[in-house]
Amino acid sequence: MQGATIVVAPLVILSVLFGAISIAVYLSDEVALISPASLLIACITVYAATIFGLGRVGISNINRLEKLGQTDSLCQLPNRRALHIDIANDAKVGDEVALALIDLDSFKLVNDHHGHALGDQLIRECSIILQDLCEPEARCYRLGGDEFAITMIGPVAGTILEGICRTFLERLARPISIGDHRFTIGASVGLSRSTVDHSISSSELLRRSDVAMYASKRGGRMRCTWFSDDFDRNREALRDLDNELRYALANGEFVVHYQPLVDADTRKITAVEALLRWNRPDGQAIGPNVFIPVAEQSGLINAIGLWVLRKACTDALQWDGITLSVNISAAQLRNPEFPVQMGHILEETGFPAERLDLEITETCLVLDPVVAERSLDVIRGFGVNVSLDDFGTGYASIGFLRQFRFEKLKLDRSLVVQAGEDDGSRAMMLSSISMARALGMGVTAEGVETQAQADLARTAGCDQIQGWLYYKAMPSSEIGDLLNKADEKIVLVNRGGTIEGSAA
Ligand code: C2E
Ligand code: MG
Ligand code: MG
Repeated sequence: MQGATIVVAPLVILSVLFGAISIAVYLSDEVALISPASLLIACITVYAATIFGLGRVGISNINRLEKLGQTDSLCQLPNRRALHIDIANDAKVGDEVALALIDLDSFKLVNDHHGHALGDQLIRECSIILQDLCEPEARCYRLGGDEFAITMIGPVAGTILEGICRTFLERLARPISIGDHRFTIGASVGLSRSTVDHSISSSELLRRSDVAMYASKRGGRMRCTWFSDDFDRNREALRDLDNELRYALANGEFVVHYQPLVDADTRKITAVEALLRWNRPDGQAIGPNVFIPVAEQSGLINAIGLWVLRKACTDALQWDGITLSVNISAAQLRNPEFPVQMGHILEETGFPAERLDLEITETCLVLDPVVAERSLDVIRGFGVNVSLDDFGTGYASIGFLRQFRFEKLKLDRSLVVQAGEDDGSRAMMLSSISMARALGMGVTAEGVETQAQADLARTAGCDQIQGWLYYKAMPSSEIGDLLNKADEKIVLVNRGGTIEGSAA
């Protein structure tokens, strides 16, 4: 539209101008010697030459504007619009078209830590690497932000494209230098293709590659994933489950059970961990390992998590001197409103902050350490403790433990079980405990089922033990009874009775 105006406007002005000159010259007496016919021919020639010249400038302007509209200004790569146009123009019926969508991992952190100027440079460097790898077979596009696409048309396009993407991931394993900075950045790749007998539109290819790219992210990043129809089917199933979870929350289908933690030496109950249960009206009980990840994906975990926190603080208020542990998801910790909402719940329920312990996993912190650290500072400001849950399942380093200064480390059941079976795992468990001690943290062994595991945890220096050897998770009413019984036993012992004060 703009291009057309650039061509038409000067032509209209010039036409009017030449018309006026022609009429003026024709009517003028001084030039009566020149015949009107030759004057008209001269005017028409100049007019035609001007139209031709301006037309050429206009057309080249239109082309330039068209190109500008299809080019990304940061990397000078063709953009999303160009991708659709190219596929529409170049792919013939029956051609294999493959599309890879590449998203840089944790790129937001680069912007947050080093500023957008360096972030932009890093994007440019990545685009140069990609272009080098693509030439001459494939075409590279920047879709926006930290997202690139590569397309290829022709026989075995998918196989070649996957090879290019894998080489790109290998290249990213080496740091990228920009000035004095060295960046190690990852990427997640999703691939899709239309085959000879099944052609797919460019928008659908993009959607499929996007779905596959998210599967790569969920699968641990730095990988390529091909789209499969199962992804769509799973998404539908997840959407149904998510709707059911919303209904469950609104209709009181959730309950909180509590699993006691005992002191490693005295075996007295010192804490309880709140564990969410979903009892569906059809009598089916669904475990948190199934529904929590779904609620995390949809964001419903924020509402569910607050419900659990409020319910647990209300229930545990009556259990004097007992610490309450509540699990917090990564999505909750990433929510900047969470610390304030937690403060409101403490105020509303009157639950003492120093008796509350939030259990978080390493993924909470790895995904967005800057926001997590800020939230943890506010949470600690209330006097609430923070524990690292499931230690031994991830990659938490000493630096990581020091950075977040947890009050407690919970050794995952897998580590506790393996420590009883092989020397290497035992050494790892012992060194984890010494490290936690050196950093001033408490240590709990999780999932202890046998006396041998409990003895190992105790001698290794754990100060709390949690597991079915002692107690399973139970409804709040049973916890009340259990604590009352334990008090009675202690009273009996104090009065010279013969019953031991053991909780087991
Ligand atoms: P977790 O926080 O590590 O909780 C411990 C899990 O180990 C619980 O499973 C518990 O029942 C189980 N467990 C305890 N002792 C033993 C044992 O001796 N043997 C075995 N085999 N298992 C034992 P559960 O209740 O199924 O919870 C699973 C996970 O779901 C929890 O792991 C936690 O990550 C998550 N979860 C539970 N409730 C919530 C919640 O309210 N919010 C969030 N965000 N996550 C929750
Ligand atoms: Mg836990
Ligand atoms: Mg755990």
